[in-house]
Amino acid sequence: MILKGIPASPGIVIGRAFLFDSRRIVVPVRKIKDGEVPGEIARFEDALIKTRSEILEIQKRITKEMGSHHAEIFNAHLLVLEDRMLIEEVIEALKKESRCVEDAFSRILDKYINVFLKMDDEYLRERISDIDDVGKRILKNLLGAKEKSLTKLKEKVIVVAYDLSPSDTATMHRKNVIGFITDIGGRTSHTAIMAKSLQIPAVVGLEKGTDKIKSGDILIVDGSKGTVIVNPDSASLKKYHRLQQRFVKLERSFIKLKDEPSETLDGHRVELSANIELPEEIDSVISYGAEGIGLYRTEYLYMNRQGLPSEEEQFDAYKKVVTRLPGNSVIVRTLDLGGDKFLSQLDVPHEMNPFLGWRAIRFCLAKPEIFKVQLRAILRASAYGDIKVMFPMISGLQELREAIALLEEAKKELRLKDIKFNKDIKVGAMIEIPSAALTCDLLAKEVDFFSIGTNDLIQYSLAVDRVNEKIAYLYKPTHPAVLRLIKNIIDGGHKEGIWVGMCGEMAGGSGFVLILLGLGLDEFSMSPVVIPEIKYIIRNLRFQEAKKIAEKALSLPTGKEVEAFTDKKLEELMPMIRRRRMNG
Ligand code: PEP
Ligand code: MG
Repeated sequence: MILKGIPASPGIVIGRAFLFDSRRIVVPVRKIKDGEVPGEIARFEDALIKTRSEILEIQKRITKEMGSHHAEIFNAHLLVLEDRMLIEEVIEALKKESRCVEDAFSRILDKYINVFLKMDDEYLRERISDIDDVGKRILKNLLGAKEKSLTKLKEKVIVVAYDLSPSDTATMHRKNVIGFITDIGGRTSHTAIMAKSLQIPAVVGLEKGTDKIKSGDILIVDGSKGTVIVNPDSASLKKYHRLQQRFVKLERSFIKLKDEPSETLDGHRVELSANIELPEEIDSVISYGAEGIGLYRTEYLYMNRQGLPSEEEQFDAYKKVVTRLPGNSVIVRTLDLGGDKFLSQLDVPHEMNPFLGWRAIRFCLAKPEIFKVQLRAILRASAYGDIKVMFPMISGLQELREAIALLEEAKKELRLKDIKFNKDIKVGAMIEIPSAALTCDLLAKEVDFFSIGTNDLIQYSLAVDRVNEKIAYLYKPTHPAVLRLIKNIIDGGHKEGIWVGMCGEMAGGSGFVLILLGLGLDEFSMSPVVIPEIKYIIRNLRFQEAKKIAEKALSLPTGKEVEAFTDKKLEELMPMIRRRRMNG
């Protein structure tokens, strides 16, 4: 059986499926006789004891692997387990309503969640996710379902899930998750982006993968093409083993360019930098030859933990990154939560359109007390290397000015305390909203650089949700509207004498690079793993040729025609790329 999805993270992997589906807990509805009540109570107590020891074990492991602050979240889970009122209510219901324990417990759990939902107290409302998490764990233990956790895997598996949150992905045990596939999601969902960072081949948007695949099935995942073969025959296995080896060999030959400059055949130099989510990625940034960090997604510092990271902790993280890359620039993007990245510890209400909602800079401007902690930490780290600060989701000049005003306040606070920072720290705006792209001439006068966030820019200009697999076919970086906006941003920035980079996934797309280079993009920032291939392309092209390609691409009427044109050009100009494509 061959399933077709959306390629999310390149590479081929062959292994056993591990179904990870936290959505489906089917609660049995069964009436019990009076005589069964003591047995049901005993089952309930066993489930509570088992859940407690599971949580303690997870807490121990997370403390060891990620530090004690990440493990603190489980203290709240343990408190829920010890809640006498909840336990007694369940026992009462068993006696009075003659329901089986799963049914009684899940009804009371729902009731609790509803009560908490209506509470005015922010802190108490935030406890809903803890109650829900522990509740699910207890139910699974009552049902005898094995606890499935991605951090606990004992053998190498390919994770098969309906969906994975970016925070699930961030905690994947790197050694044992060798690949993953999901039913939903798009190429630029943060889960897909995280997979690339962790260098785990992945396919998303398979729609019915979890229905068709069982744990233990053998899978071939081709993350470059977006295909999954379930229980392949020996001929397919042989073929893919061969392709896998060739893929690795080609990767190695690209990596040889690691220390070469990213310069075209006729001497036009651009900067190739890396996008990172976690400070631990610095090793791969260095090994793939990035010239710096073009996007540090700091929101991951805020995930999978209780409470917010302190100024000190953030300062340590930013300083660690910049001091590991001496002489290189590190662009720290301020907190960009929302969309598909949520933090359980912040009271952000559920929204109908999270990508259009209270997110990123909008949230930060509304919560200066949270924002300034981060700004001070970034400023303090700027004393130790070339740190730049960048604001996400800027929609217009007013918002940009407000963000800069808070940065100035943070500087003032540090000055008053005699704490050192780079007073000339460079400030950039992400251009990822069409309104910013169209008014970039105004914005360019008040910042030092732009970085184009195509992941969002495409979704907003084409009205295509970036994480929705059903409309993924419409998500076209080559749509004439997108190309025109990009040209406008690059020209607008250059007119005011500032440099323009791109940190959306488009910057790492081999066909797109031909156009972007020709449009005059100064900096390309991408997952470290794709840097060698992009460097190869840049080094094998003439800037004059790229300019012609860009001009032609802009004259074509549909994204499909642009893609066909750049694909043809790539294959014509670069034999290595042709070979790679044939290899899948
Ligand atoms: C973008 O939108 O292109 C971007 C780089 O930011 P993110 O993917 O984190 O939204
Ligand atoms: Mg974005």
